[in-house]
Amino acid sequence: MTNENPQGSALEISPELLAELLDPESWDKVLETYSRTMRVAVALTDTKGQLIGACHNPQPVWSLAHDSRPGWGMDCLFCLAPHLPCTAVYDVFRTGQQVLVHDQAGLAHVALPLSLGDRNVGVLLAGQVFDRYPEILPLQRVARDLNLPAQELWQLARKQIPISRASLQVYGDLLATLGQAFLRQRFAAILERKLAETHLQVRDYAEAVVETVQQPLVILSEDLIVLSANRAFYEDFEVSKEETEGRHIYEIGNEQWQIPGLRELLEKVIPEQSEFQAFEVEHNFEHIGRKIMLLSARGIFKTEPYGRTVLLAIEDITARRRAEVQLLRSNTDLQRFGSVISHDLQEPLRTIGSFTQLLAKRYTGKLDSDADEFIHFVQDGVVRMKAMIRDLLLYAKATDSEEYPLEATSAELSLQESLANLQTAIEESGASISYEPLPTVPYHPHQLGQVFQNLVGNAIKYRREELLQVRVSAVNKQGEWLFSVADNGIGFEPAQAENIFGVFKRLHGARYEGTGIGLATCRRIVEHYGGRIWAESVPGTGSTFYFTIPG
Ligand code: ADP
Repeated sequence: MTNENPQGSALEISPELLAELLDPESWDKVLETYSRTMRVAVALTDTKGQLIGACHNPQPVWSLAHDSRPGWGMDCLFCLAPHLPCTAVYDVFRTGQQVLVHDQAGLAHVALPLSLGDRNVGVLLAGQVFDRYPEILPLQRVARDLNLPAQELWQLARKQIPISRASLQVYGDLLATLGQAFLRQRFAAILERKLAETHLQVRDYAEAVVETVQQPLVILSEDLIVLSANRAFYEDFEVSKEETEGRHIYEIGNEQWQIPGLRELLEKVIPEQSEFQAFEVEHNFEHIGRKIMLLSARGIFKTEPYGRTVLLAIEDITARRRAEVQLLRSNTDLQRFGSVISHDLQEPLRTIGSFTQLLAKRYTGKLDSDADEFIHFVQDGVVRMKAMIRDLLLYAKATDSEEYPLEATSAELSLQESLANLQTAIEESGASISYEPLPTVPYHPHQLGQVFQNLVGNAIKYRREELLQVRVSAVNKQGEWLFSVADNGIGFEPAQAENIFGVFKRLHGARYEGTGIGLATCRRIVEHYGGRIWAESVPGTGSTFYFTIPG
């Protein structure tokens, strides 16, 4: 016999799997039944010929020999007289086929391979029968070798009914079929169990994830029984685990989930599409009041015994919606405020303006010098007030989508227009303004022009002694346009980079004219179109203003 497996193997079978496949207890029943029905001996060995489990041998000759030699230490389980080593197991591996052997007592057995794929996992032995009438001489020799009462052995052997070689081979075939079927069944059962274990692990893992997620999550069975829910769910909806798990989703929390929209989704959408995303549902809960929720669900893995489970995610957007409504309201308020300023304030301001002009014309030099100065102050104030009203109005209207609808806007044309508006300032300052080819973007041209005008206007205003250079460019970064307006002006402290976007926030105070509303307006416009705006600067060297436009 040999330890080798000359046929090689393609199927990887770990020692643990092999041990499970050849589990003695499971094989015992099959082998025992076979042995009892066919009345031949049967045993299972590993690939080295070592017995696995019990040897089922109803043959009296063998029992006698075995009982008299408790420490049965022979090479072959079935050979009674192993003067020559039994080569059955080795031959099975060599040929991959059933092998029939005789021992010197005249007993015959067959050995047959047990294989999974092309990998041999063991050997089945069957037989220990005389395939012709027993002969006395060999038996006497065996009795002598094994120190058995020869007479008794002979008597038992004569009682053993011979089985023809052909029948023994048929018995072997039958055992081979039975053995292979049982092996495959075991393999399938092990695989199935392992699969179920992996499912369980996946489920454990999934449950751990579900538990840590901040968003309320519920896992439902196919018939909408709550299998589990996470902490966020219990806390947000003020229900306990005990009154939730194992109950139908529509029943829990005083039937608070009997929401028509949700029913529709779970009963119609999920079975057909297996998922739905972000459906908005509004519901008045008994304990926690009105909630606006986004519901998403998806059919997940099959788990026994629940069938396909459904993961329901609930996002509470009540606060977000409230904030949106407030924002909308404040935007509308601001716009209303804008029109109030433009109509109601501009009128009296115009009156004050024309009367102070009249005052200056008539009385300058006629009253004392203080009076002249006061008149001058008032005139100055009126001009500043006008500028502020104009800028505030622009600020208020920055988010007015009706006045500024979206269109395909050439950023280059918008920039050129704003440069035309700044022409005098550009000429006076002698600024050099350059720009790269700029893209066409979804914007209102006037508003994009406003942003450019504010940024380039500031660059001109906050310049240094030396020649001003302004550079405008745009690059596409991951689907959004990043615009920049860079100057070599006075710059500002980087710590102020955020501050300057606030309304009335000015760093360079009285030395420069301005209302402190320009950058705030730029931010309102840019954010209204879904972009961001920020600035970087090195004081005394220059500043760069960046803004993005989603593609
Ligand atoms: P203002 O009417 O004062 O120009 P803005 O809102 O346009 O108002 O700008 C706010 C402040 O940001 C300015 O007062 C100035 O201090 C600073 N600032 C804006 N642009 C620049 C720039 N290009 N270089 C240096 N400082 C700037």
